[in-house]
Amino acid sequence: MGHKSLDSTTIYVHLTIGKTMTVVSPLDKMGGLNCGEVYIQQIFDFSFNDYAVQFQLSKEQEKTAIFIMACKSGDLGYSVNVCDKCYHTDVRNNSCRNRNCPCCQAVQKERWIDARKAEVIDAPYFHVVFTIPAELRPLVYTNQKLLYSLLHDCSSKTLL
Ligand SMILES: [Zn+2]
Repeated sequence: MGHKSLDSTTIYVHLTIGKTMTVVSPLDKMGGLNCGEVYIQQIFDFSFNDYAVQFQLSKEQEKTAIFIMACKSGDLGYSVNVCDKCYHTDVRNNSCRNRNCPCCQAVQKERWIDARKAEVIDAPYFHVVFTIPAELRPLVYTNQKLLYSLLHDCSSKTLL
C-alpha cells in the first residue's frame, strides 16, 4: 500500500482516516482538559497500563515508561537540602534521569540540540535518511553498536 498510484493512495488515506477516527485521545479519556498544564507523566499514569495490554513493548520502552511515571513522584527517593545559616530545609523528589523523560531531561535535550545546531555547516546541504528493512529491526535492536556502525559506513560510502 502506498503512493504508486492515485488509487492506492486514496485507499491508504481512507484507511488511515478510518483508523485514526477510532483512536480515543488519552486527554479525552481523562475528561478533557480546558485549563492548566498537562504533563506527559499524567498521560502515562492514566493510559500506560491499557496501552501495555494492547501493544507489545520492548524492554527499553517499558523501562522508559516506568521511569517517566516514577520521575519526581517520590518513588525514586528524595534529597534533602538544609541551609547552613537559617536551617531552611528543602525536600525534593528525585528525578529519573532517563534520557527520554520530558520531565527532567528537557534542559539537557535543549542543550544537546543547541550543540548540534552549532555544528551545522553554514552551507546548502541535503538531508538524507537511510532506513533498514523491517525484518532486520529486531536484529539491529539487539546489536545496535555493530549494526548502526555498519549502516553508517555503508551510508557514507553510498554517498561519497
Ligand atoms: Zn525524569
